[in-house]
Amino acid sequence: METSRLRSLLDRLHKGTGTIAVLTGAGISAESGIPTFRGPEGYWTVGSTEYRPEQMATHFMFRQDPWEVWSWYLYRRAVCLRAEPNVGHKSIVTMESTLADRMRLITQNVDGLHLRTGNTQERTFQIHGNLHFMRCAHSCSTEIFPIPPSVGLKKRNESVTDEEKSLLVCPRCGSLARPHVLWFDETYNEQHFRADSSLRWAHQADLLLVVGTSGATNLPMQMGEIFSRRPEAIFLDVNPHPNPFREMAEAHPNGLALKGTACEILPVIAELLVTRP
Ligand code: NAD
Ligand code: ZN
Repeated sequence: METSRLRSLLDRLHKGTGTIAVLTGAGISAESGIPTFRGPEGYWTVGSTEYRPEQMATHFMFRQDPWEVWSWYLYRRAVCLRAEPNVGHKSIVTMESTLADRMRLITQNVDGLHLRTGNTQERTFQIHGNLHFMRCAHSCSTEIFPIPPSVGLKKRNESVTDEEKSLLVCPRCGSLARPHVLWFDETYNEQHFRADSSLRWAHQADLLLVVGTSGATNLPMQMGEIFSRRPEAIFLDVNPHPNPFREMAEAHPNGLALKGTACEILPVIAELLVTRP
């Protein structure tokens, strides 16, 4: 790792005032055992057909077969509930403990692990939602509700029981509930996904730290593009594999691509930030 370059970039952050946007994707939870969308674990079999996540995670699929979509989410929820935060998640909590209101965490992850590790709800923007929650599929209100604890932890391809179906309903109007996530054929909004707040922070923060993100989704790419047009800012990408944010970091005058995993790199960054707050 290029620690000396990293140290000199972090030295450019104004002590006591420098602000940070941390943008995380599925890669940060990979070392906790939660599969990213790219590996074989991302695929889902319905009958004899294999679906990719980009097909499963859609409102279109939910309209066709809501219980198949619920079954996929309840299986993923079980995987997330069994997973433990890793040192990458913990390093981001250390960063927030040090920087407090000078940091925002923008996460694409729906696993809820950042909040479970200790990042605060106020400074964590879950731009794709959280699969431990549900809301009314008919939008009778905008409220979100925890998935009832008696809904089971599903195995892969296990069906939703009739009893569980009776629990996965909107507590307000009694009609079908849906997972509180942003699907690929839906658009971002502020109320549920803090989209405007994320973009505002991208325009004003002094440093962007991207972790484990493939660049397949819109808002994270916009954030990367905003920082690319801000040569005075600092642009870091943490990812063991090539991705569009690595290219942006490498093209940026104050950019650095850190080629390693979240657990390898984030403790080093947190340590440097804590000792030079
Ligand atoms: P992605 O699956 O498309 O890409 C994951 C990225 O992480 C890749 O670039 C990969 O090279 C990198 N990576 C893999 N292991 C890593 C590690 N140990 N350390 C650092 N980086 C690592 O994920 P994405 O970019 O987040 O976007 C796609 C969608 O996937 C999002 O909408 C998100 O909601 C959803 N998703 C979320 C979870 C989760 O909540 N944990 C899991 C799978 C997918
Ligand atoms: Zn309702």
